[in-house]
Amino acid sequence: MSFNSKLPKEQLEKLDWACRYINGPDWLFEELSSPKKIITFKIRSPLGGIQKTTEVIRVQYCNPNSTGAQPYKGGTRFHPNANLEGFIVLSWDMTKKCVLTNLPFGGAKGGAAIDPSKYSKPELRSFTEKMTQGLWANKALGPDTDVAGPDMGTNSETMYWIYNKMAEFNNDFNLGIPNVAAIVTGKPIVNDGCPGREDATAQGGLIVLQEFLKLSQDLDCSITDKPKLVIQGFGNVGRNLAKLIPLSQFTVIAVSDKNGGLFSTEGLDYDEISKWFDGHGSFQGFYGAEEISNSDMLTLDCDILIPAAMENQINVENADNIKAKLVLELANEAVTPYGYGILKDRNIPVIPGIVANAGGVVVSFIEWSRNRGKRWHMSELDKIYEEVQHELDVIMKGVIRKVYSKSKTDGLTFNEAADILAIEALRDKLKIKHGY
Ligand code: NAD
Repeated sequence: MSFNSKLPKEQLEKLDWACRYINGPDWLFEELSSPKKIITFKIRSPLGGIQKTTEVIRVQYCNPNSTGAQPYKGGTRFHPNANLEGFIVLSWDMTKKCVLTNLPFGGAKGGAAIDPSKYSKPELRSFTEKMTQGLWANKALGPDTDVAGPDMGTNSETMYWIYNKMAEFNNDFNLGIPNVAAIVTGKPIVNDGCPGREDATAQGGLIVLQEFLKLSQDLDCSITDKPKLVIQGFGNVGRNLAKLIPLSQFTVIAVSDKNGGLFSTEGLDYDEISKWFDGHGSFQGFYGAEEISNSDMLTLDCDILIPAAMENQINVENADNIKAKLVLELANEAVTPYGYGILKDRNIPVIPGIVANAGGVVVSFIEWSRNRGKRWHMSELDKIYEEVQHELDVIMKGVIRKVYSKSKTDGLTFNEAADILAIEALRDKLKIKHGY
């Protein structure tokens, strides 16, 4: 375990600017510039039949809530490039996202630098179970301490493995964990998951986009009546978004995954491209559209660019070449702080990730609350789904309206406005927590 690794330089500069903007007390910058706790441990598990040692990381950034029943919350990522610095930034984003949406969680993030596609299913399950055991032993998992969830490279099945392992420990060792289902969200519906969680991040992003387009009619960013969308990433977030997009309102002209993408000025048909993708494991060879590289698709002429894959996609190298009129940042940190600066100078608005992708944690909150209290019966699923959709709609619209209005009154970009609102709310909550 180690303490006080700070945010990287670009992020510290952003935080420093925001703390000065609100005339924040000195302790605020000090407290928010580094995570509260970094947990690391090593596990041994098989890969290709050979035992391998892998480090697991969990970063608990900041929990501004005052009572012990308000846990840290954040996704678990399995990706070969995952590292401590990345988890620090992502857990900071999670802190801001939870406070912006008024959820009673602190921000966390974690996982391991592994490529899940290289593991057989039993190997991946064994890895996940050992990680679960280590997280519990290190007080980084529990309904009131730290709640896991899906992120890149993990899904509802991974979440079920975590839940199932903890339920076994709970019984075998009489751990007495109440409401053990509440240690992890994003579980399958048949395993105490929540209807609507699977596509909640995409659904939330779509609500934010539609509301933004209504609010910004006065904004001269020349978005056409039927905006052309480019979606980078075809996993949980990008693929669900491509599926949900109402074709009466938008045209999806390009999609991609890590191996490259497809482009058609006429628009892509979701059913056709997804059938091809599922059958071939990539978009390569699809006949009805042009193939395009990931770097080229980012600079396509379009109305709305939606990075929904991973961080650092729009940066100092390419921000000058972005032709989109609006960026909806669905992947966390898809635009680097310096990339934001260039887009600001070029008057290209960006709806920041801490707003655009908050739908996932909003529905995770519903799942967590239900797991701690009244459970639902399978016959109620439709009713619950409707309630979830309603809640998501109200919260996501509320957040984008708040950010939009702050941006207009203070003359800030949407990213700056979201940061300022989050840091003001953190200041107020931390004051109460510390009794200042
Ligand atoms: P995922 O693992 O399900 O999918 C990631 C997708 O990105 C895959 O299609 C992959 O092929 C693609 N990809 C990877 N590298 C790429 C590259 N260089 N260029 C283009 N595509 C690339 O992950 P996800 O859950 O969809 O998460 C995507 C982003 O959304 C991440 O930033 C994650 O933190 C964020 N997010 C996810 C959730 C959630 O509920 N899953 C919630 C909030 C935020």
